Amino acid sequence: MKRIAIAARVSTNRQEKEATIESQIAELEFWASENDCVIVERYIDDGWSGEILARPELDRLRDDASKGIWESVVFVDRDRLARKLSLQELVIDELVEKDVEIIFLNEPLADNPEGRIMQQIKGVFAEYERAKIAERMRRGKIHNANEGKLVTGTPPYGYKYFPKTKTTVAKYEIYQPEAEIVRMIFKWVAEEGYSMRQVVKELFKRKIPPAKRISKRWVKSSVERLLNRQDYIGTSYYNKTVSVVPKHPQNVGKYKKIKKSSRRMKPKEDWIAIPVPPIINKELFKQAHLKLQENKIYNRRNKKYDYLLSGKVFCTSGHKRVGDSVNGHYYYRCAERIYKFPLPHKCDAEGVNAQILDGMVWYKLLTLLSKPQVVRPQVERWKEKQSKVVSRSQEEIERLNLALDKLREEEERHVKVYGAGFVTFEKLQDDLQDLKAKKEAIESQIKETGEKAPDDEVNLDRFDDICTDIFYTLKYAHASEKQRYARNLLVSIYVGERRSALVNGHIPLVTQAQNIQDVLIGRHSRFAECRQKHAF
Ligand SMILES: [Zn+2]
Repeated sequence: MKRIAIAARVSTNRQEKEATIESQIAELEFWASENDCVIVERYIDDGWSGEILARPELDRLRDDASKGIWESVVFVDRDRLARKLSLQELVIDELVEKDVEIIFLNEPLADNPEGRIMQQIKGVFAEYERAKIAERMRRGKIHNANEGKLVTGTPPYGYKYFPKTKTTVAKYEIYQPEAEIVRMIFKWVAEEGYSMRQVVKELFKRKIPPAKRISKRWVKSSVERLLNRQDYIGTSYYNKTVSVVPKHPQNVGKYKKIKKSSRRMKPKEDWIAIPVPPIINKELFKQAHLKLQENKIYNRRNKKYDYLLSGKVFCTSGHKRVGDSVNGHYYYRCAERIYKFPLPHKCDAEGVNAQILDGMVWYKLLTLLSKPQVVRPQVERWKEKQSKVVSRSQEEIERLNLALDKLREEEERHVKVYGAGFVTFEKLQDDLQDLKAKKEAIESQIKETGEKAPDDEVNLDRFDDICTDIFYTLKYAHASEKQRYARNLLVSIYVGERRSALVNGHIPLVTQAQNIQDVLIGRHSRFAECRQKHAF
């Protein structure tokens, strides 16, 4: 009996007409039972675009290939491995090199060079066909939109979509129950001066659900989108945005399910206007937007309090607290409560008055710095711990360097495939881009680990002087500088029960006399932790 692994993939893109993940697995299992094979491992990428090679399960498969857990790996077809021929060939070569057998159920992999080349040529044509069809569809949509025909089947809130029939074109028709709510929202804003937050609250109070296909509840951004929709005054726009690979990805080095996950606005002259039945009149639309503009200016003027501890305050349960003004008072309020609004929240912690907390923390900071002898024992303890940290971070750096070597090997493999003429230069660049992101993530981790580790003995001789220097800097600090100093000295402030706060901070230590201002903003100064608890 042969030990095999099965691998399957589906994307989330509904346009790719493909079998479900279950039907793929069923087909593979059936084949295994018919061919006297036992499945010892499964690699299932559910919801991953075939344009991406960096998939968690495919990576695991490639890692396992040399471990001898299984002799063959079985896919339903080549597309399940990857969409692009070049990517398919890359993995196939790699697996063949590792001496494992690859089986595609729809067409066995040729076992001679001529056969392989024929399969590749067929693959090139299939890829070209697909690109041609996609382009034809795109042009068809633009053409239809230019003729004033609706292209997308997903109508905005307030409409129902009717696909074209033999005698009529596709159209949106007003769906009165939702249209009434659209009118109501615009009136709230235009006539009652509601903010978007108040609109969300009111909709929640009246138990009005949003369009189900979009989200489970109204949030500020969905109300904002609704208020900006020109569909409601009779014009739907097509071709407004284009999907792109994000320029500044938020999760560098992590797996991404789709490549072009970001949307960019197109220039207005590319937008194609399609007439649709209006729900409100232009006057109301204009009025609502004037009011929103007013609110914005008013809010900006009102946001005059500088939260001293901005970004540093937390609930004891770990939620971040953000500066928020309510009726002219300033608070640090739990972000979980604010963003869950108006849904019930898990955290019961109440807001704390920002002016009081700011004053207390600042006062406590000054008191501590004026008495270095209070902090000193903690600094001594911290110094002792440092020697242990050094050896631990060295181990970590070694481990990260190994991972980096592995990525470099993979890079070479890509270049080899390019050298053999299987892929174009553009494709090579594309592939290397993925690897580069991973490499950068690891490199920055190495740098961070290195920075965290103290590089030489800490000298505490000047500790008292440093405290005194900082004390005077803070004492005579201009109001506009206080926030920067607080940000550099304080790590976190946990606001707890019974009106108490746990303040964590650090004191920059330097071995030579230096301008204290530089010390405070320097990024590489060493930190000693000190903890103080006090009631306020
Ligand atoms: Zn909280």
